[in-house]
Amino acid sequence: MKDKAAFKQDLKIYNSLTGKKEKFEPVIPGHVGMYVCGPTVYSNVHLGNVRTFISFDVIYRYLKFLGFKVRYVRNITDAGHLEDDSQEDKISKKARLEKLEPMEIVQQYTIDFHKVLELVNNLPPNIEPTATGHIIEQIEMTKEILDKGYAYESNGSIYFDVVKYNKEVDKYGKLSGRNIEEMIANTRVLDGQDEKRNPQDFALWKKAKPQHIMRWPSPWSNGFPGWHLECSVMSTKYLGEQFDIHGGGMDLKFPHHECEIAQGKAANGIDPVKYWMHANMLTLNGKKMSKSTGNHLLPKEIFSGENNILSKAYSPAVVRFFMLQAHYRNILDLSEDALQAAEKGYKKLMEAIHSIKNLPESSSTDFDVAQWQQSLYDAMNDDFNTPILIANLFEGVKFINQVKYGQAKISAADKEKMETLFNNFAFEVLGLHNQEASLDNNQNQSFDKVIQLLIDLRNQARADKNWALADKIRDELAKHGVQLKDGKEGTSYTFK
Ligand code: AMP
Ligand code: ZN
Repeated sequence: MKDKAAFKQDLKIYNSLTGKKEKFEPVIPGHVGMYVCGPTVYSNVHLGNVRTFISFDVIYRYLKFLGFKVRYVRNITDAGHLEDDSQEDKISKKARLEKLEPMEIVQQYTIDFHKVLELVNNLPPNIEPTATGHIIEQIEMTKEILDKGYAYESNGSIYFDVVKYNKEVDKYGKLSGRNIEEMIANTRVLDGQDEKRNPQDFALWKKAKPQHIMRWPSPWSNGFPGWHLECSVMSTKYLGEQFDIHGGGMDLKFPHHECEIAQGKAANGIDPVKYWMHANMLTLNGKKMSKSTGNHLLPKEIFSGENNILSKAYSPAVVRFFMLQAHYRNILDLSEDALQAAEKGYKKLMEAIHSIKNLPESSSTDFDVAQWQQSLYDAMNDDFNTPILIANLFEGVKFINQVKYGQAKISAADKEKMETLFNNFAFEVLGLHNQEASLDNNQNQSFDKVIQLLIDLRNQARADKNWALADKIRDELAKHGVQLKDGKEGTSYTFK
């Protein structure tokens, strides 16, 4: 079988910036810097958020599995994310409504976020920086952009000059495919607008209004940093001025990621990210799952079954499997039918994996294991195509089940290879929960052992020339639907 390193060269990633699948070539060979926008911790994460974090967990896992040294940074937004309409900080607002300290809100929902991601078997990132822990760095980057001439002060706030940047540095809108003139024409007039030179300009630093509780001193005012700035600051601080992968949900492409590109390029003169990756949305009833519209399901509601959308509870393991049955760039709709199918599929996969050890061994194998291995890597190397990977894993399941029921043969060496590949791809790469197969499977295993015992007794009877007993065992089993087959490799059984 080929070594992992042989497959590492073939990885292709769809880059949202170019709209193409590109061969993956990290800035520093062998090393990967990956940044994913984390949650704004003002409420419980919903299943849509969870989907995005599972998508990037699999990407992280596969890169590590291929042998890259990965530094995965995912931030916690605990300040600076304003509500679109009221322009109030989301965390301050929640704190005000609940009469709590903002940091109590942050603590409560950060803990919830970690718990949920652990339940769905996500690996933690290597660094999880917070916006409030990097205020000084955000002031520094604001100063740099001011010095370069791409930001200006207005009434104690600092705004990024999008029009000047667009004219002198690079096209603002290149990631989302927008054009600045159209954007300007379509912008609503919001609070603070009169402070800006152009409606598309965005705040790097905002002077705090008297009622705004989360505030820090700066050379310009007592205020707080803009949301887009924190990601530019924390990604480049830990990964360098240009790093490999930046991810987030599709809805962050504009304006969040567009602004990050502009900030990075204005400050450092270089595109901050080589590969922009965007995970598509989880929908419910065909509409984006979202906190603000109320069209959402919380993880605990689906795990406990306490909701009025689904008829029963689905475990975190099934939910993860369900999510991975769609490619990360496709929309996925949550439905009872799809969850039920995922539950069945997950169980079938686990049963097959856990039954490999007990398969009878032959001198040869009726399955091309090397080709199967290639198909598993090919799926993941094609922009992390998890649904194709799962379909290919099921080719292996089909074969394992044939061996189990005496319809095909496997050698001891190939048994081991297949078991390793299942472990690699199902558990290490997809991060599926390695749950001992269900009761059914335990029963299957006992059943298997009982039949094996009867086969041994029949062989003994034949060796003793006790043909009557040998025939009786065969005939009685046949009556109960179990057909014995005598072959060169010994006796196996199938169901009639
Ligand atoms: P937020 O806390 O709103 O910043 O969201 C955290 C992450 O979840 C972001 O990467 C969002 O793009 C992503 N996200 C939000 N809603 C959905 C959804 N319905 N499906 C998938 N990802 C989502
Ligand atoms: Zn971000």
